[in-house]
Amino acid sequence: AVQIDGLHKSFGTLEVLKGIDATVESGEVVCVIGPSGSGKSTLLRCVNLLEQPNSGKIVVNGVEITDRDCDIDAARRRVGMVFQQFNLFQHLTVLDNLTIAQRKVLKRDKAEAQRVAIENLEKVGVADKAKSYPAQLSGGQQQRVAIARALSMGPEVMLFDEPTSALDPELVGEVLGVMRRLADEGMTMLVVTHEMQFAREVADKVLFMDGGVVVEQGPPSQVIAAPQQERTKTFLARVL
Ligand code: ATP
Ligand code: MG
Repeated sequence: AVQIDGLHKSFGTLEVLKGIDATVESGEVVCVIGPSGSGKSTLLRCVNLLEQPNSGKIVVNGVEITDRDCDIDAARRRVGMVFQQFNLFQHLTVLDNLTIAQRKVLKRDKAEAQRVAIENLEKVGVADKAKSYPAQLSGGQQQRVAIARALSMGPEVMLFDEPTSALDPELVGEVLGVMRRLADEGMTMLVVTHEMQFAREVADKVLFMDGGVVVEQGPPSQVIAAPQQERTKTFLARVL
């Protein structure tokens, strides 16, 4: 589970997160929706400690990762992240993209790292591309490789920041399909997305953010299908 408590984050004088409270229970999928600039990416980046919160608490499976004494590298290992722009190493093969962090960070030997890599590539349906370079893959295949790379580290939680926004429309489905399967397998997931159909069908809970606060949260049947807040209604009218 991920517990976020009174999370504040400012960049200089710009207050981006103004006290976020949210929980992702173990095995739950929580989708974050909201307009551009509302702080969605910043929230995810705080959960992965890519940004240092100004105040507030983030607890992952009982360990407070925002504690001063917490080992940041150890905390990051437990939280996998997938970005809009794949962020694969272009000069490495798919297989090496998946083994490098396992070897450097987790100290796995080559054979073990490759075994885990192949297992995860099979899971996302791109094992036949193990020897290819990212540029030789479609966007959908690259994003599935990025998911497999995150999974190879054995994360307890997966964060997705608009994982399908950079894809051609016909490639969106294959990535959402992989995410759906992960959800079915019980992965704990926090997903920023504009895919309302996915949120409706897969999310246990939807958070609507605007202006650095959570305006409304609840099951999709509530937040998407029957929003209570004016700001949520306005946003949904624009995206649905
Ligand atoms: P989008 O839907 O466009 O991805 P978002 O909800 O993810 O938007 P954020 O990327 O979290 O929004 O940004 C929220 C605000 O914080 C924006 O005003 C942005 O300009 C600002 N911001 C984000 N990162 C930084 C940074 N490193 N330095 C300064 N300002 C930042
Ligand atoms: Mg963003």
